[in-house]
Amino acid sequence: MTRLSDYTTFGIGGEAKNFIVATTEQEIIDAVVAADDRSARVLILSGGSNMLVGDAGFDGTVVKVATKGIETHVSASGRAIVTVAAGEVWDEFVALSVTNGWLGIEALSGIPGLVGAAPVQNIGAYGQEVGDTVSQVRALDRVTRNIVTFTNQACGFGYRTSEFKRSVQPGQASGRYVVLQVGFEFAPGTLASPVAYAELAAYLGVRLGDRVDASRVREAVLAIRASKSMVYSPDDIDSHSAGSFFTNPYVSAEAAATLPADAPRFGQPDGTVKTSAAWLIDHAGFGKGFSIPESSGRAALSSKHVLALTNRGGATATEVLALADAIRAGVQAQFGIDLVPEPVLV
Ligand SMILES: Cc1cc2nc3c(=O)[nH]c(=O)nc-3n(C[C@H](O)[C@H](O)[C@H](O)COP(=O)(O)OP(=O)(O)OC[C@H]3O[C@@H](n4cnc5c(N)ncnc54)[C@H](O)[C@@H]3O)c2cc1C
Repeated sequence: MTRLSDYTTFGIGGEAKNFIVATTEQEIIDAVVAADDRSARVLILSGGSNMLVGDAGFDGTVVKVATKGIETHVSASGRAIVTVAAGEVWDEFVALSVTNGWLGIEALSGIPGLVGAAPVQNIGAYGQEVGDTVSQVRALDRVTRNIVTFTNQACGFGYRTSEFKRSVQPGQASGRYVVLQVGFEFAPGTLASPVAYAELAAYLGVRLGDRVDASRVREAVLAIRASKSMVYSPDDIDSHSAGSFFTNPYVSAEAAATLPADAPRFGQPDGTVKTSAAWLIDHAGFGKGFSIPESSGRAALSSKHVLALTNRGGATATEVLALADAIRAGVQAQFGIDLVPEPVLV
């Protein structure tokens, strides 16, 4: 029996009924199709850094993606066309992109997990999103059983979402599409895109909109993330999490007007206003390290960052969810805003 706690950055999760490590695309396809034929539940597991798996485990088939391979060629216009197997490690790929002068993902340095999961929630940080450089995604369609290719537009990228994430039905662990390969198209060069994030600009000592070497952006992002335990390390208990547990809420202009004057507000082109989940949590009384008595401190907010719920050692999924519920209820009572969890709850 395989304990899923060994495969998640939370270090939480009971046993898997069936656990298959797939090192080739065909093994992924065969495992998923065989499980679907038996009407067994399927969990596609990559780096396990964006999921909270229940204490009872998973009563179906877990397919652990472990495919490898990166192919590159240069387009007629000089852009780098790079095709990456789903099982490659995301941050190793970012490091390779910076070394090779492929621009556009340097600010996504240090995000845990594998390449195939990156388009699923359209990972983003420090002013970049993966959807800005993904050119296509090859996937198994579990309904038609065809291998399908999504163009960038067909991926339907949005804030921490995509068609892949939207295809997860309520009660299911994984969606209709199993990402097999991700294609990127990068502009070549050394100067990263204009710095679009105030904290990053301040760290680099430049102004918003300035351009610096992609390698400096990568170093700066890794240093900022490490200072907040947002780089996963088995030795750093503040990183035993799924990263940010809640997404930043988008609210109507009327709702935003009712927030305290010092609440962050970022107007959006569609008239909605984005505010900060971290600010709401902090100002609803849940400071760094907050814990609920029921978990005796085992499940607590990170000591560095109120957006990360962490397992301080021996926490159960039930305890993490109780902590999340307490925070959601507190923010709802104080500000009338419902926080939405970012990780997949399995
Ligand atoms: C310390 C820390 C910091 C983080 N910082 C960030 C951040 O800055 N920005 C950000 O966006 N995220 C962040 N995250 C969240 C997480 O790292 C990303 O969402 C990452 O892309 C998840 O990758 P994974 O391989 O671990 O996916 P998993 O956790 O294994 O899977 C996540 C979901 O995607 C599905 N999935 C995985 N692989 C595939 C596939 N090949 N095909 C179809 N579905 C698939 C799974 O079934 C599951 O539903 C952070 C997490 C941690 C722990």
